[in-house]
Amino acid sequence: MNLHDRSATPNALAWVTEIFRQRVSTQASVSCDTGLCLISFEKSDFEIRIVRDRTFDPYNKNHLIKGQDEFFENYRHRSLPGLGSSAKKGLIRWKSRNHLIIEYDLIQLIFFMLNRIEEVYCSDFDDDDRFLYSNSVLSKFELIERPIVDEWMQFIRSAVKRADKSITLTQKSFCMDLSHDVDHPSRFAFGGAKNLASGIAADVFRRKSFSNIFYGPLQRLTGARHFFAHDPFNTFSWIMDRSEGAGHVSTFYLFSLRTGLNIDADYRLSDPAIRNLIAEILGRGHRIGLHPSFMTYRDIDEIRRQWNGLKEYLNVEFGHDDLDSVRMHCLRWRHPETLRNLSAIGVRRDQTLGFADRPGFRCGTCHQYRAFDPIRDEVLDITISPLIAMECSVTAPRYMGLACGSDALNEFLKLKRECEAVDGDFTLLWHNTELADKDMRVLYEGVING
Ligand SMILES: [Zn+2]
Repeated sequence: MNLHDRSATPNALAWVTEIFRQRVSTQASVSCDTGLCLISFEKSDFEIRIVRDRTFDPYNKNHLIKGQDEFFENYRHRSLPGLGSSAKKGLIRWKSRNHLIIEYDLIQLIFFMLNRIEEVYCSDFDDDDRFLYSNSVLSKFELIERPIVDEWMQFIRSAVKRADKSITLTQKSFCMDLSHDVDHPSRFAFGGAKNLASGIAADVFRRKSFSNIFYGPLQRLTGARHFFAHDPFNTFSWIMDRSEGAGHVSTFYLFSLRTGLNIDADYRLSDPAIRNLIAEILGRGHRIGLHPSFMTYRDIDEIRRQWNGLKEYLNVEFGHDDLDSVRMHCLRWRHPETLRNLSAIGVRRDQTLGFADRPGFRCGTCHQYRAFDPIRDEVLDITISPLIAMECSVTAPRYMGLACGSDALNEFLKLKRECEAVDGDFTLLWHNTELADKDMRVLYEGVING
């Protein structure tokens, strides 16, 4: 079955109707036949006809779609991204006051982007088995910094508003979704002696911080119930202060178990300092999520064990039964297998889907949406909350390499402005370990307050 047919099965249409109800109006419904898809609205005679395109080819075609100027009155880019289409003009027009025609297969675009079809059929991954931006159509057509699905939804909303003011549009405001993967909660408390020595050396030579020659071993030897204030990775209270100051809630993604590799975290939930950290996070009204270990992204039994382990721990120790989210360690992901596994074990929200090698809109959206399995043709009981930016994707030399000055700040804020323009969520991942130095803290504050 090709993309054209997959995107118009009864289940796929029920799913896409849900997307339009969430993003445009609860009165919306979508139906399709071989040549047309129709978006209609309960209690209104307004309809949008979308001409289906059997030659839709997102791998090889793209052009910007322009319409009559009135469509783009309040629109940021004054043209719409037409991934998959090579037509040149006349693609959007009013046939009558109640009848808008779009000669661009928007239904296939939504299906392709939100269900990550290019990843489903990809066989080229990086050393960590991840799908990279450099392999994406978003790289080929330089669309990574535009939430292309959201732009179309904004356009549909403005057309509805213009055609029939009796149709009630859904309301959603921009929000910042701050999150922090806790791979290393402490420079000194965990890991082997070699780890301790290299951590102290890094502090002395790179950060000119000599006090940790004393505090590092002390933290290790005393098995302290709290991480020392001098510990450069202990930035949790500082993060929570900033989130609270800006009116945000932070989610901290914690390991539950390891899968035995050096790349996993080096702590246990039962460590007293971890327990006290969780108590502070929950006590201050922030959230905990699961950070499944490196080898779990294709292993349903292991990820279930880790999910249930954290759930039970939070319940027994803190009477907390609100665990619903995950982000995979190192952003490892195989689509739709990982998603399917997460849904099956009871995870209700995932925040993994951003590219490690480039910030931006991997799914073409910064809005949360219900997941759909394009292989099994079924709606999944899990929400995808796309990751828009991870700090190292912007700052680290191995990725964009913008360090932590004004170029990096501008990159983050450019993406944040795009999210604001479509009333979406700017989902940001900032590791606690990447706030040890003053210039990174200045950058972080610039991003959350800018
Ligand atoms: Zn991680």
